[in-house]
Amino acid sequence: MRTKVAIIGSGPAGLLLGQLLTKAGIDNVILDRVSQDYILGRVRAGVLEEGTVGLLDQADAGARMHREGLPHDGVSLAFDGRDHRIDLFGLSGKRVMVYGQTEVTQDLMDRRRQTGGLSIHGAEHVAPHDFDGDAPYVTYTKDGVSHRIDCNFIAGCDGFHGVSRRAVPEAALTTYERIYPFGWLGILADVPPVSHELIYANHPRGFALCSQRSATRSRYYIQCPLDEDVADWSDDRFYDELRRRLPVEHAEAMITGPSFEKSIAPLRSFVAEPMRFGRMFLVGDAAHIVPPTGAKGLNLAASDVHYLFSGLREYYAERSVAGIDAYSERALKRVWRAVRFSWSMTTMLHRFPDTGEFGQKIQEAELDYLVSSTAASTALAENYVGLPY
Ligand SMILES: Cc1cc2nc3c(=O)[nH]c(=O)nc-3n(C[C@H](O)[C@H](O)[C@H](O)COP(=O)(O)OP(=O)(O)OC[C@H]3O[C@@H](n4cnc5c(N)ncnc54)[C@H](O)[C@@H]3O)c2cc1C
Repeated sequence: MRTKVAIIGSGPAGLLLGQLLTKAGIDNVILDRVSQDYILGRVRAGVLEEGTVGLLDQADAGARMHREGLPHDGVSLAFDGRDHRIDLFGLSGKRVMVYGQTEVTQDLMDRRRQTGGLSIHGAEHVAPHDFDGDAPYVTYTKDGVSHRIDCNFIAGCDGFHGVSRRAVPEAALTTYERIYPFGWLGILADVPPVSHELIYANHPRGFALCSQRSATRSRYYIQCPLDEDVADWSDDRFYDELRRRLPVEHAEAMITGPSFEKSIAPLRSFVAEPMRFGRMFLVGDAAHIVPPTGAKGLNLAASDVHYLFSGLREYYAERSVAGIDAYSERALKRVWRAVRFSWSMTTMLHRFPDTGEFGQKIQEAELDYLVSSTAASTALAENYVGLPY
């Protein structure tokens, strides 16, 4: 088989890139090792920046998001027993859209089906080849039969554990990493959110986040030790701990109900540089991971797609390599800003095992400054709604 762009990975990055390319008339094939149902069963991000919303519109996959998504104009920082609202829209002129990653993925898959784009699921042993030359190709096995896709470019959109980054010679790659000494225990439940907007809570017992997927579905998290066992956390125990970390008005108003998903996610910052190796590009989680505290993972995957798509479109329309040559540098500039923001939100809001009461006091002073200074609140708002592309 021959195509222009072989895309490894059918997560948000691969699907969005595929849809934008298809719309621009640039042939592409998406390969994923798992089924569509498996991908749609993964519960992940839920807060979209305006740039991501715009890209979904550009891919003609935004209609349901505009009908069912929840635009949010602010977020709350809770500490010292009180809520402090950051007026995102008032301070930055932008808002965020609360709409689950599962829904984004579903909409992109639907659009791909409607436009006749080829996605191959259940592809095993996927491997990119010869991307340092002029004739790259991808091999895979399906139902015991080996296949080969010849292409002009390979987009490695296969997440942190994918094959694309691992196919790059070690000496060509520089990685930066920070592992945080705690995780997030999260639940998903069909109960109305405790607050109309998200609440990020700093509490001496640890961080908590009240997030949501819709007006009837809540996503709640509490900071926990990394060696915690999900099986030890009944729903009642989870809600009790969450309530302890929230201002009393929220704790009392919280409606609880059985969770249908409960898991512990480790927190990590990771960046691999560069993001281009000859005719292969790394996109999204394949190149970088951020802790979810700043709601940036999915949005960074989208901004990478924006830069790569612009470069590829320019290449096919004008035979110019300027855009693809600039891809890695442009993407990484924005990636590092988001890595910094996610790191600073994580550092400000979580209880660290080794910083003690001093660390807690410093966090409270920082939060107090943040909510009482327009300059500091504006900086948070600008980063939270997403820096410009
Ligand atoms: C548990 C969890 C919770 C998260 N919560 C949040 C959150 O609250 N907020 C936030 O902003 N972000 C969150 N994230 C991050 C966000 O989900 C990711 O940033 C986003 O999914 C990145 O999209 P992607 O397309 O780059 O990668 P992925 O979504 O990981 O997609 C990669 C795709 O590649 C496929 N693949 C992998 N290896 C191969 C292979 N060898 N061959 C073929 N295909 C392969 C995978 O099956 C997958 O479909 C979370 C992530 C996780 C894991």
